[in-house]
Amino acid sequence: MSRDVVDVVVVGTGPNGLAAAVTMARAGLSVRVYEGQSTIGGGARTQDLGLAEGLVHDICSAVHPMALASPFLRAMDLAARGVELRVPEVSYAQPLDGGRAGLAWHDLELTAEGLGDDGPAWRSLMAPLVRDPDAVVALAMGDKRSVPRELLTPSGVRATLGFALGLLEQGTRAWNGRFSGEVAPALLTGVAAHGIAPLPGLAPAGTALLLGSLAHAGGWPVPTGGTQAITDALVADLRAHGGDIRTASPIEHYGQLPRARAYVMDTSARAVAQIWGDRLPTRARSGLEDFRYGDGAAKVDFVISEPVPWAADGVERAGTVHVGGSREQMVEAEHEISHGRHAERPMVLLSDPSVADPSRVVRGLRPLWTYAHVPSGSDVDPTEAITAQIERFAPGFRDVVVSSRAVPASQMSGHNSNYVGGDIAAGAISMYRMVARPRLSWNPYDVGIPGVAIASASTPPGPGVHGMSGWFAARRLLRSRFGLPAPSLAP
Ligand SMILES: Cc1cc2nc3c(=O)[nH]c(=O)nc-3n(C[C@H](O)[C@H](O)[C@H](O)COP(=O)(O)OP(=O)(O)OC[C@H]3O[C@@H](n4cnc5c(N)ncnc54)[C@H](O)[C@@H]3O)c2cc1C
Repeated sequence: MSRDVVDVVVVGTGPNGLAAAVTMARAGLSVRVYEGQSTIGGGARTQDLGLAEGLVHDICSAVHPMALASPFLRAMDLAARGVELRVPEVSYAQPLDGGRAGLAWHDLELTAEGLGDDGPAWRSLMAPLVRDPDAVVALAMGDKRSVPRELLTPSGVRATLGFALGLLEQGTRAWNGRFSGEVAPALLTGVAAHGIAPLPGLAPAGTALLLGSLAHAGGWPVPTGGTQAITDALVADLRAHGGDIRTASPIEHYGQLPRARAYVMDTSARAVAQIWGDRLPTRARSGLEDFRYGDGAAKVDFVISEPVPWAADGVERAGTVHVGGSREQMVEAEHEISHGRHAERPMVLLSDPSVADPSRVVRGLRPLWTYAHVPSGSDVDPTEAITAQIERFAPGFRDVVVSSRAVPASQMSGHNSNYVGGDIAAGAISMYRMVARPRLSWNPYDVGIPGVAIASASTPPGPGVHGMSGWFAARRLLRSRFGLPAPSLAP
């Protein structure tokens, strides 16, 4: 690679890398981005896997409550850039044995009505958060270092209190006290399980409260045409501001990079330690090398000839389905994973994007996005385990499967090196690790070398397609290295 000089080098084109690149380029700096893969977008890519002509699949993320709520992406105004986020009527569903299901409607009242005797308990948990989603987002999607101004209003204080109490209740053994039936606790646990961590736990409870309340606020949308639409909008803006992207350029050592005044690493914490090795102060280096990864996900993309034949009414209207059964069954499955064993009935996440976006159906065929939780580094093909779990709640599912492609956890890092051992959160999800992410330090984006920042999901606020880590890191570098204010992101 050439040794020419640019203002800023970014490594990685995930949503955080692109967010940093866009922010820097809009501030008037010259930006060059290096991407290890031949395609752009990291965890936000949509590809033709060759399973059915014309059909495309979201190879990582598919459902975007965080993109819709993200202050960075809201400031970018995705809608004005032609990205249409389609919100299904039912944000997520939880099928249960016996043809029953919990439905989290976009509408909170409809959800509470559907939950019968547990409806008031659901309403009182979610309502304080749904009333002020900006406060919840500021709390859960902030840099975990400052007190956002959204929290300093009366409704912000109420939302913070509601979140804290909800955390203490749903993150501990007290979590069943609120509910009398089986459906509502299962519905909430399906969201908590996104964290791929033992249940109950404070960090999974935080996930449940953030994503659960967003389900009733903005909803859980899918972008028309797939997740790539979000990436393409960021790339178009970066190029319009002079940014340059070089694909198929895996970086293993800083010597491969051109001289620049700032570097933003959208890579895993350990990759930062490897790439910047001898230049890192000893303490920072060992902090990054000791960064703990979480358990894994193993993915199967299906092509199906008809909608999934769910036994329970209403599940077919959900953009996302948590296929894990009851609260107890999900606790058991996540317990097994955290002890390095495959669960007999694993937690499966599923999305049929065509529920909200009919353009995804091509000649009657539709993509079905699924993944299962598995132990870190598992090389087991998850196709049969996922198929059996879905079949359990949708008898006849096997008959609508036309083809599929599996990516075991051990191979996840082949298409994105940030997902070590299949850890799609790029770092363990625990309360400590949500703050000490990637290490305990006042500036979580600082790696100990002036001008070099880490900005991936291994930093606050953690995983998800929101671009917040990239935005936070870029704003800090703009101030400290260039003396520049944060630029406008408006189209
Ligand atoms: C199967 C799966 C399902 C998911 N589902 C959802 C979902 O529905 N909704 C949601 O919000 N989130 C979801 N996520 C999580 C989300 O995709 C990630 O949290 C998000 O993409 C993180 O963004 P990032 O910019 O930090 O890193 P990534 O998106 O992981 O991108 C990192 C980029 O850096 C590149 N890179 C890394 N190291 C190097 C190097 N040394 N040299 C050059 N390039 C390098 C990688 O190739 C990659 O392109 C999912 C993830 C997976 C894998």
